[in-house]
Amino acid sequence: SLTGTDLHLSFGDHKVLRGVDIQVDAGTTTTVIGPSGSGKSTLLRVLNRLHEPDAGDILLDGRSVLKDNPDDLRRRIGMVFQQFNLFPHKTVAENVALGPRKLRGLDKERARALALQQLEIVGLTAKADARPSRLSGGQQQRVAIARALAMEPQVMFFDEATSALDPELVKGVLGLMADLAQQGMTMVVVTHEMSYARNVSDNVLFMDNGAVVETGEPDQLFTDAASERLRSFLSQVL
Ligand code: ATP
Ligand code: MG
Repeated sequence: SLTGTDLHLSFGDHKVLRGVDIQVDAGTTTTVIGPSGSGKSTLLRVLNRLHEPDAGDILLDGRSVLKDNPDDLRRRIGMVFQQFNLFPHKTVAENVALGPRKLRGLDKERARALALQQLEIVGLTAKADARPSRLSGGQQQRVAIARALAMEPQVMFFDEATSALDPELVKGVLGLMADLAQQGMTMVVVTHEMSYARNVSDNVLFMDNGAVVETGEPDQLFTDAASERLRSFLSQVL
């Protein structure tokens, strides 16, 4: 499980997180929704310590990680962003094998075997030896997901992983993310895809202005929002 308690972060005098609590049980998916600038990406960046919180705690399986080396935490959390950031001069398999080789110390053959295994999960074994530029955006994002999975993380973070994709490619990547959730991966998903939030997540967290305004199971949140703020947000995005 991953827990953030009372997380605060300011940039100068701009309070970006104002006491955020998040609880993601092992094997569940939490979706984070909310308007632009509400602090969703910042929350993910604090949870994997790309930003250090000004206050609050982060627990992985019940143990605080704030005193550990941040690199240790980042190896245990897989990140998938809007931008895939694949190395253009390496093959697909080499991109996926890189983390296991450099960060987990696997030798070349074992890292390649692991990469092929992850590429099979995302349906891209056939592209293993191609350069990323030969792949569609959706396929490149699948490679980025395979690359994160190859670190065998305890938790996966997705930050608008489908926002840069052509509309017809979005479904495939969302389907893969739904499969991962179904298989019991622990996931935190920031998305504007409300159907994904509603159909795939165990919990939804609605943020506005650096705070969690409302949280709960999707059916309840989407049909019976308690706050006016969430009702008005949903009326704009649904
Ligand atoms: P979007 O849906 O547009 O991605 P978001 O909910 O992910 O929005 P964040 O990127 O977390 O929002 O940004 C929250 C606020 O923090 C914004 O006002 C943003 O300008 C500010 N912010 C984010 N990163 C930094 C930074 N490194 N330095 C200063 N301000 C920042
Ligand atoms: Mg964002």
